[in-house]
Amino acid sequence: MMRALMPNLPNWINESLAERQQADLIRKTVVLDQAQTAHAQIDGKPYIAFCSNDYLGLANHALLKKSLKKAVDKYGVGSGSSHLVIGHTSAHERLEEDIAAWLGYEKVMLFSAGYMANLGAVTALGHKTRDVVGDKLNHASLVDGAKLSDSRLRRYLHNDVSSCERLLKVSSEGSLLVTDGVFSMDGDMAPLSELARLASHYKSLFMVDDAHGLGCLGRSGKGSLALADMSASEVPLLMGTCGKALGTSGAFIATSKVMGEYLTQFARPYIYTTAMSPAMASVTSSSVRLLQSAEGDDLRGRLADNIAYFRQKMQAFPLELMPSETAIQPILVGDSSIALKMSEKLRLRGVWCTAIRPPTVPIGLARLRITLSAEHSLQDIDALIDALEYSLLDK
Ligand SMILES: *Cc1c(COP(=O)(O)O)cnc(C)c1O
Repeated sequence: MMRALMPNLPNWINESLAERQQADLIRKTVVLDQAQTAHAQIDGKPYIAFCSNDYLGLANHALLKKSLKKAVDKYGVGSGSSHLVIGHTSAHERLEEDIAAWLGYEKVMLFSAGYMANLGAVTALGHKTRDVVGDKLNHASLVDGAKLSDSRLRRYLHNDVSSCERLLKVSSEGSLLVTDGVFSMDGDMAPLSELARLASHYKSLFMVDDAHGLGCLGRSGKGSLALADMSASEVPLLMGTCGKALGTSGAFIATSKVMGEYLTQFARPYIYTTAMSPAMASVTSSSVRLLQSAEGDDLRGRLADNIAYFRQKMQAFPLELMPSETAIQPILVGDSSIALKMSEKLRLRGVWCTAIRPPTVPIGLARLRITLSAEHSLQDIDALIDALEYSLLDK
């Protein structure tokens, strides 16, 4: 329960909290006293977790742990400075080159998080005279970037190419079209080829946020572009996070040399912040190598098998899945309080899946955002389905 600990706080603070509480929208931090794995110990009890973005189980991978320890011996723990002062080490340089080679881009710039990478690119490219056109379900960081850049944000209907075209038609020249590759709360994929064609026709810049595609989809885990058989030349700006399938943390923008130079000069969330830890950069290079190895293929194969198994098992179930072929398999519940109750019931059955509620998703579209990992066994998925069945009893 919420208690007023500081009586001299202005009223609106407590009022806002009370409002969220009333609507079942209060979020809580859960403390994990161990590594991020599909089998979590929370408050002393074992759970199978189905809500992490560690899709390939790399966050606790033995080889990567060893690689990080080695990197700490060489580079220490912190970067001590921004990239442009004295924080850019050979580990950062190497990671930028490794990602560029992996994804076929000329230039890669590292950021400390995906949120910052999106803010960086969109604030640098948006302007009050240039529009940002984006999918209605784009990630919050893309929306915030547009707001911060003072550009007009025009949002088209989710994955609706003609709605997007209508907005591009009336947009100022030199606008930015931006979309998630895989939508984080729905798991479906953007029609990237069509959007790229539109962007080129209307002389807009095109940017894709592939936080959830990278590592999981396409040949060598190159993500949504590879899956759609597209090349870097069709997507001048690609954002990727290292904190999801790559298992580490940080993020990057992959782009051309000239655009990289522009962002280096104008992307404030690149300039005015401490570079990611060099040890983290180094272990992320190992992760990128792993993704391109036979083991990477094997992990992606296991993830794909788990997704297929889950969807097939759910066919006989009274809950409808969303049209997603990715590791994100949400179950739409609607009401926030029901989503919370279902999540509590899952917990009673040893399954951990946090309810996702507004404002992360639109009002009335609360859901259980189930995410699958290569680490889950078929028995884990059976346990999930049993728990879902139990959660439906007199909900
Ligand atoms: C998670 C996420 C981000 C932010 O990345 P972080 O590295 O976690 O800050 C950006 N875009 C999308 C679509 C995401 O899902």
